[in-house]
Amino acid sequence: MRGGIIRLLLSLLGAAMLLGFAPAAQAGGHFPWGTLCHTTAAANETYTGLAAQPWRWQCSDHRWSTEGDKAFLRFDLRGGPEPAAARALVTRLTRFERMALSAVDGAGRVLASRTVGEADMRPASNDWLMSVELPQSAEQPEAIVVEVSGARHAGMLSEARLVASAGDTPASLRQELLIAALCGLLCMPLILNFAFYRVLRDRFLLWHALAVVFMFVQTLVTSGLINRFAAPSLAALCFLSAVSWGGGIAAAALFSADFMEPGKLNARHRRALRLTAIWIPCWTAFYLLADGGLRPLAAPLYFMSFIPVLGTFTWVMVAAKRRGSRAVNFQIFAWLPIMLVGATRILSMLGLTGPMVELQLEQHVALGLEVIITTLGAADRFVTIRRQRDRAWAQSRRFEELAERDALTGLFNRRGVEERFTELHADGFDTMAVIDLDNFKQVNDLHGHAKGDEVLRAAALALAPDEDTLAMRMGGEEFILLLRGKDVLARAERRRQAISLRIAAEVSGLERVVTASMGLVQHPPGGALKCDFSALYSHCDRLLYEAKRAGRNRTMSEKLQSFGPRFLRNKAVA
Ligand code: GH3
Ligand code: MG
Ligand code: MG
Repeated sequence: MRGGIIRLLLSLLGAAMLLGFAPAAQAGGHFPWGTLCHTTAAANETYTGLAAQPWRWQCSDHRWSTEGDKAFLRFDLRGGPEPAAARALVTRLTRFERMALSAVDGAGRVLASRTVGEADMRPASNDWLMSVELPQSAEQPEAIVVEVSGARHAGMLSEARLVASAGDTPASLRQELLIAALCGLLCMPLILNFAFYRVLRDRFLLWHALAVVFMFVQTLVTSGLINRFAAPSLAALCFLSAVSWGGGIAAAALFSADFMEPGKLNARHRRALRLTAIWIPCWTAFYLLADGGLRPLAAPLYFMSFIPVLGTFTWVMVAAKRRGSRAVNFQIFAWLPIMLVGATRILSMLGLTGPMVELQLEQHVALGLEVIITTLGAADRFVTIRRQRDRAWAQSRRFEELAERDALTGLFNRRGVEERFTELHADGFDTMAVIDLDNFKQVNDLHGHAKGDEVLRAAALALAPDEDTLAMRMGGEEFILLLRGKDVLARAERRRQAISLRIAAEVSGLERVVTASMGLVQHPPGGALKCDFSALYSHCDRLLYEAKRAGRNRTMSEKLQSFGPRFLRNKAVA
């Protein structure tokens, strides 16, 4: 009993499948009223011959093919969706060799006909479509027959329909405005990318900019909007469309390879992404150039070439996600819509979706989403990288400072100032003073080295560095001041004298007052001496020696004038 029911169901299913897929043209050459039938044919076959072979015709939205030398479409005008007063044929934009349009009567007699080429087609401004005027006959035709040779995409057959006029409608205008807004949106990330790039010279920003340019061109061209601004040929439109699509994907793959954080993808992942950027342009060239026997294969093979690309992107995204990448989250949301649209289009091109689906509008929206989300991702990554770099810079600055400081006193050491001396001099530090403690050896000898260190620390405190006074320890009991601004001599002298007071206050148990001698040189810009640390230092050292010889606890100073070695020498300050 149950077996009988299953058999019955199976036979019903078989009958339904036969009805669905068998040629619907009726035997005897009678085409069903109001239908669109299609067939492929050899170069020497004519419509009259084919009309007598109804089994050759496919009268459903299936099995569209550009195989064979040419294809025939037959629009039946007896009722149905096609307007009886049809004036134009609209179809998917693609390249082809020749199209013959005929108005025929019931007996297959040609009432009027015209043959057109690519140059006769008018591209639409709101979709990836093209249209052409139908031949007009005095008598009402029964059907319009279209004979197409050399079509490069089966969509030229499957999307064909007759219209009363090829003009604009409110709906088409709305779509055009939407696309124009989308194109405007696609330009914004370019400005951001270049702004980011000025701060962060990272390559992924350039790849993103390139991808955005390609996607902008893709949307501008395939939406038809470009035809509002220019009159490119069909060949140019197809070229721009294929190149911008392939270029956009290649640039996006290169972007991903550089965009994902270090450690979140391994070398194989990044290599696979970069290979994609070679793979796609090769297939784009094949799609554009394949001819002769390869022509019918060009579109299906080209579409199939995207399957490994989809696979690569999926593989890479899963790997990065597993490793906890933050950047990949943006990639997933950006790529998912475009990958779904792409996968549907591939399946459709391979005949797996029944009727052909193009999803043009969906593709525009998906591209827009891709660009916006990727831009957010790039901005996020920009902030992260910037933060990491700032942190690393601050840390290295800290290490540098440690290397530039004297461990005992905390003052700059010689290296800390000498390396930057030219810069400091240009910043106005034009006075150098070398200060040496008097008879310091005795402190060590009498009170020990530790006490000596205490004295050195106290002397350093007395030097009181500020914005206009840099202090450093040259080594031993010798210090250097670099000063700028007003009253440099008096400010240096106050510090020299403060040394004795500070040591007395900070260090207990010293038998005598520790004094210091100083040699000071003022070297205003344009001064006679070469502006060089060593030269200035040896000048100061000579003055210091003079101060020591003159009895210590005093200052000797000089001001170097602009022309020649004429020095204005101040008297020693006791
Ligand atoms: P003068 O007035 O001619 O400068 O005589 P002086 O004794 O100060 O100069 P001298 O160059 O003869 O002696 C400097 C002494 O400084 C010798 C050395 O042992 C001592 N010294 C150098 N570095 C340090 C240090 O880091 N700590 C201590 N405690 N002593 C040091
Ligand atoms: Mg000394
Ligand atoms: Mg000394």
